[in-house]
Amino acid sequence: MLKDKFNRTIKYLRISLTESCNLQCFYCRPNQDKTFTSCQSYLTPDEMLLITRVFSELGVSHVRLSGGEPLLKKDICLLVKEISRLSGINDVSLTTNGILLKKFAPSLKNAGLHRLNISLDSITPSKFKEITGGGDLKKVLQGIDASLKYGLTPIKLNMVVMRGINDDEIIPMIKFCLKKRLILRLLEFMPIGNSSSDVKERHMPAKEIREKVAQHFPLEKSTLRGPGPASYEYVKGDGLMIGFIHAVSQHFCKTCNRVRLLSSGKLHLCLGHEDQVDLAAVIRTPGVSIEDLKETIQAAVWSKPSVHRFNKSGSTANKRIMSSIGG
Ligand code: SAM
Repeated sequence: MLKDKFNRTIKYLRISLTESCNLQCFYCRPNQDKTFTSCQSYLTPDEMLLITRVFSELGVSHVRLSGGEPLLKKDICLLVKEISRLSGINDVSLTTNGILLKKFAPSLKNAGLHRLNISLDSITPSKFKEITGGGDLKKVLQGIDASLKYGLTPIKLNMVVMRGINDDEIIPMIKFCLKKRLILRLLEFMPIGNSSSDVKERHMPAKEIREKVAQHFPLEKSTLRGPGPASYEYVKGDGLMIGFIHAVSQHFCKTCNRVRLLSSGKLHLCLGHEDQVDLAAVIRTPGVSIEDLKETIQAAVWSKPSVHRFNKSGSTANKRIMSSIGG
């Protein structure tokens, strides 16, 4: 079992497979080129697999693949297949912007992917293009249809709500999800990887997001809790599930069950802190054993911070780039 000193058990590993992305969402990748890790230090697929196997031996049962854009990772389907075959791993999920999903949906299904999250902040082509730096909404919609067709369900659609940017799209997004039978998750905008001074203005607390929804759709509390941080409610009479993710306003650090492995091989212990441990350096040290790697991971997890520092003065969260951490 992987435990930290606050008695939290870590069962969930998020892996950022690559820093590359085929979209340039203004809030996620503001200065992409300047912040990239040098190519030589990226983990190879075999190294990723080795580290994931060791995590599974230490009790991790859920792996989520993210990025950058994970579907840009060469051999992504092979990685999904190998990870889902690891004993102890019973849930392999993927977070994607959906641009390449039409092509990948059948092979991801065959590879054994269990669940899919698709990020979509706007259902209006022009606004989608604006937010994503030129993205084509049609491709994402085709990707969603292909995923439904090949049974990559349940599909969760993640929308980061930003005041003055896309808060007017919450209701159209719910209608879209009702039509397609997707689960919608409405995320608070986090002050991370975002150098602009209007972060505070853009942030809309989950409570306010929920009120906006409840004005149009009657909601009913759900007892459902996934491995993640969402609190779910149903649209009454219809059954559509909506998750509200209050990462900033009402943090869920006490029940945090995750750590993040970056494509550079660094283990990132908390989204709201800088702390990282270089696992690539460990596995590339001549003569190092699996036991050494296990001990490094256990010691790193033990030192996981108790709580994020998003709202604290002196927080350096906004210096990090979400597209390299994987969300
Ligand atoms: N390219 C994939 C995608 O778009 O889903 C995976 C990587 S992306 C970094 C993962 C998630 O992080 C996306 O849903 C994105 O909206 C979210 N994200 C990025 N920056 C964020 C921020 N400042 N606050 C909240 N969510 C953020």
